[in-house]
Amino acid sequence: MLQPVEIVAAALIAAKMAADAVFASLNRREIIRHSGAVPPAYAGVMDAPTYAKAVEYSLAKNTFGRWEELCGAVVLAGVLFSGMLPWSLAAWTDFAGAATWSQALWLVLLLLALSVPSIPFDWWGTFRLEERFGFNKSTVQLWVVDKLKAGAITIALGFPLLWLLLSVVAWAGTWWWLWGFAIVMVFQLLMLVLVPKLIMPLFNKFTPLPEGELKVELLALAERAGFRARTIDVMDGSKRSGHSNAFFTGFGRFRKIVLFDTLVAQLTAAELAAVLAHEIGHYKRGHIPKMLVVSAVFLAFGFFAVDWLMRSPAFLGGFGFAPTAGMAPALLLVTLLGGLATYWLSPLINALSRKHEYEADAFARDAVAGPAALVGALRKLAEKNLSNLTPHPWFSTFHYSHPTLIERERALVGEGT
Ligand SMILES: [Zn+2]
Repeated sequence: MLQPVEIVAAALIAAKMAADAVFASLNRREIIRHSGAVPPAYAGVMDAPTYAKAVEYSLAKNTFGRWEELCGAVVLAGVLFSGMLPWSLAAWTDFAGAATWSQALWLVLLLLALSVPSIPFDWWGTFRLEERFGFNKSTVQLWVVDKLKAGAITIALGFPLLWLLLSVVAWAGTWWWLWGFAIVMVFQLLMLVLVPKLIMPLFNKFTPLPEGELKVELLALAERAGFRARTIDVMDGSKRSGHSNAFFTGFGRFRKIVLFDTLVAQLTAAELAAVLAHEIGHYKRGHIPKMLVVSAVFLAFGFFAVDWLMRSPAFLGGFGFAPTAGMAPALLLVTLLGGLATYWLSPLINALSRKHEYEADAFARDAVAGPAALVGALRKLAEKNLSNLTPHPWFSTFHYSHPTLIERERALVGEGT
């Protein structure tokens, strides 16, 4: 007999699967509909053979994504409804006891184990899909070492954090969830500083842009735009992939702009300056603090949910745990189910993210006196990365964190031109 909470969970999984299937097939049809020739609006972006390759790449990613989604949903349903979660907690407690540290270790190891089914997809995505289109530069050895490092980091950071969170229930009583929320917020701020400083260097090499005309030009632009920087970092993204990118991270004294070496190789100095100005725009407009506020709202709600659900026997009991099993299983279930609920908010989050992209683009246009360089950079990025130029509007509204190329061009150049 299915319990009421299981019916709710099954409905959430089915609803997300159905929505994903609809979006993916709409997007697929839209790509095929435009596949005959380069759409007139994109005449200068790609030549015919490159466009044909971009169509093929977009369709291959679409198929791959559908299998990945389907497998993820099947695994999640299996994990939730087979009784393996309460069984694993019981087996672990027999083996390692029910102390707080032991529950924290169970949680982090279980979450790690639940990510295992996605590993074959990662492998296929890297060594089949990306390889076929010439993007993959990684080796099996590098890929395996990456996975091991990521697993070790998850345990090294996740275990103490979860231990602290589970301990707080005993210390703080009724209001533990506010404390838990505060702890995770501090952890997030710390990560914003530590990830670029300590964790990313475990995977990539960061070197300052070499002395020369380009560096002088970019630093002068940064200065003019109000972003005092001693150096601009170049990341060896080409170690793993031919895709090119740039990003801004951190805050205050710990801010950092990173250009991929692939980007530096593809763009002209003026285009690089425009991309840099766009990243500075994210900083000047306070986009990272704004996104932190959004994630704080989600987090506070998540902790409130854990508190409420762990005291509800119908919830824990419904998934086969002892009704008094407490916070560790409640935290696990909220982690597993949370994504199914927040999925429906992704259009809102993505709309906010796209608003930030428009703001950063406008900032860059003003900083480099005109839209030409940024438009040139965006077009070249679309070409080199074989971007899907014709996503279905529903798909891009729901899933895209960045506006499409044509939307960004229109906003930069101004309507009517
Ligand atoms: Zn951006």
